[in-house]
Amino acid sequence: MIRMQLRYSFRLYPSVGQRMALARAFGCARVVYNDALRARETARSEGLPFPKTGDLSKALITEAKSTPERAWLGEVSAVVLQQSLRDLDTAYRNFFDGLKGKRPRMGAPRYKSKRDTRQSVRFTANARWSITPGQKLRLPKIGDVKVKWSRSLPSTPSTVTVVKDAAGRYFASFVVETGPEEVLPQVAPEVGIDLGLGHFAVLSDGTKIDSPRFLRRAEKRLKKAQRSLSRKEKGSKNRDKARIRVARAHARVADARREFHHQLSTQLIRDNQAVAVEDLAVKGLARTRLAKSVHDAGWSAFVSMLEYKAARYGRTFVKIGRFEPTSRVCSVCGVKDGPKPLHIREWTCQACGAVLDRDINAAVNVAKAAGLAASACGAQVRPGLVPAPRGEAGTHSTPQPSTAR
Ligand SMILES: [Zn+2]
Repeated sequence: MIRMQLRYSFRLYPSVGQRMALARAFGCARVVYNDALRARETARSEGLPFPKTGDLSKALITEAKSTPERAWLGEVSAVVLQQSLRDLDTAYRNFFDGLKGKRPRMGAPRYKSKRDTRQSVRFTANARWSITPGQKLRLPKIGDVKVKWSRSLPSTPSTVTVVKDAAGRYFASFVVETGPEEVLPQVAPEVGIDLGLGHFAVLSDGTKIDSPRFLRRAEKRLKKAQRSLSRKEKGSKNRDKARIRVARAHARVADARREFHHQLSTQLIRDNQAVAVEDLAVKGLARTRLAKSVHDAGWSAFVSMLEYKAARYGRTFVKIGRFEPTSRVCSVCGVKDGPKPLHIREWTCQACGAVLDRDINAAVNVAKAAGLAASACGAQVRPGLVPAPRGEAGTHSTPQPSTAR
């Protein structure tokens, strides 16, 4: 059993006063970060040694608080300011490691701006933050902030990062270590999953899963907001307002989609001992004109959730390469004869006569390729007793324009 780190984010609803206190904390953390960056860049340009973090902490936090220009640093938790210096250290370390080829190259640390779309502060264990008996998040010098606990935390985290995003929403983000105590009791079912465009997912047991209504509604609102933005005159006040509406709608779609992926992946992992999916890199759709809808469907995010949840709950996760095109092989007799154009939803196997549902057939093939116990019965609309005569089957010898719903 592997230990892993998982990030949990929850929406925060700070009061007006708490929002002001958070704005101060974001501002102070940013000032300390920028002061430290300036001190180091100045030292570098003057050929002086790289200032140590301890010295910077003393000069830019402890001593600065007693000067009239920086006295307001005393209004926020000192731990938040210390953490800001540590974040700058990390940014430098990553930059230098990149130069040495130890990790992908990245830019030198940059000054933070009030206008950055994402603002954040980090509270470590030293800051003595806590979760109150009333389930609020108690932050030093901020107060008890209301949290929407959409999932339960598997263990108590030591650090919380408070984030304000481009849409003006607040989140508490926790990194939690998970362990083997979460392994679920064994169950019998094993399932292959076909990720598609008609339905979000189709299972080898015949279940078809669509995106939920709350996600489709959020997507509709986003489209409307985008249309309205494109009609607004450049540089106008109304355009600014419309841009904020688009950012909010975007955030809502992303949230709704993540929520749906979490719910579905948790359910699939709970209900099945093993799950198999096709490797998306070989699914081959991403390079076609369907790329956008593939991207929107967010498959890769969903598949990575399945993968880590399987590891966490002691289930088997299999990603299969595409040895055979799953939608074209008959899951009953194994003959490669199936349909190519996407509008063919049901087809008759020329070899054994089984009438197959395109998507379920693909899911059964995924399960079989992964070596899972999957029955082909689910894929059959009608069992094939009499082979269909040529010409009446759902296959086309000439290519047809593909259509995606
Ligand atoms: Zn067949």
